[in-house]
Amino acid sequence: MNNKFFAETLIRWYTHQHRDLPWRQTRNPYYIWLSEIILQQTRVAQGLPYYERFVSTYPTITDLANAPEQEVIRLWQGLGYYSRARNLHQTAKHIAYQLNGVFPSTYNELLKLKGIGPYTAAAIASFAFDEAVAVVDGNVYRVLARVFGVDLDIASSQGQKKFAQLAAELISIEQPALYNQAIMEFGAVHCTPTSPDCLLCPFQGVCAANLTGRVAHLPVKIKKTKVRVRHFHYFILMKDGQLAMNLRTERDIWQQLYDFYLVETEHSDATLDSLPLPSFLQQALSQSVVSQPSETITHILSHQRIQARFWQVALPPGFDLELPSSLRFFTQEEIDELPKPVLVSTYWKARFFE
Ligand code: SF4
Repeated sequence: MNNKFFAETLIRWYTHQHRDLPWRQTRNPYYIWLSEIILQQTRVAQGLPYYERFVSTYPTITDLANAPEQEVIRLWQGLGYYSRARNLHQTAKHIAYQLNGVFPSTYNELLKLKGIGPYTAAAIASFAFDEAVAVVDGNVYRVLARVFGVDLDIASSQGQKKFAQLAAELISIEQPALYNQAIMEFGAVHCTPTSPDCLLCPFQGVCAANLTGRVAHLPVKIKKTKVRVRHFHYFILMKDGQLAMNLRTERDIWQQLYDFYLVETEHSDATLDSLPLPSFLQQALSQSVVSQPSETITHILSHQRIQARFWQVALPPGFDLELPSSLRFFTQEEIDELPKPVLVSTYWKARFFE
């Protein structure tokens, strides 16, 4: 199959079949960048309301740059991978203040920005500035592997080199934005991982995977992601109608979000007596009414499975306790405004507003 036929067929398919999404109606690099960062590891249906909220709260990159980080993270709450929100905010500040609000317009310049990798740089450069640089994401790997019968592991360096080379050869020089949109959309809605519509496919007669019965085997992805299981024991210190919330500052999940005081163990079978508790907490527990632990709640992240239990610790009124610097008491109204991981937010709402 020649390259022109491939690109033209995709663009023709896209013209008739694509979903009408708001970031496709714009050439504004700021909006395109927002949509691409939100949609990383997020389905379109889940990401769409976040995109709309960000655009209406921060209509320009300067509005985003001027916002307090906590507010940005609060708006991001529920999307996970919070480093994306922090990078988004830092890059907005860099563009607004160091680059005078002018969004870099080439692939190479975009790559220098924090939180922007080859895929996002290619997306912004092509969608906003018509640069002929090919996007290569999971959808593109799948379409190319199947149509051209490439059976190299997509996680291997050899595979990545081959796919990048193929993608660069295939992109339409005349219509790079449309071509990139088309191949990503085709992978997302037509040539899907488990139910590709081969019967009604414009590549049916030329697709190598279809012709050789290898659709279910391509693309080849050998590396399996290891899931880490973590055991969280949360202590909810309550005093005078307020709860102690902990600002997470370490390099870990949920950085700059608030949770309760956390004790983590290697194993699930820890009892209250066997937990490694700091002295301030031991002192608090000795003076307080402590609830039975909650049922274990399982919270799934992409590479981690959190098994969490919660203890409520009702401190005596006016009890004076020296807390770690990351922990302080907040009213319910204040907690409502704090950025919190979904696990904490869900438990807090269910327990305190049931
Ligand atoms: S024929 Fe099937 S596997 Fe090949 S591109 Fe079309 S939908 Fe994908």
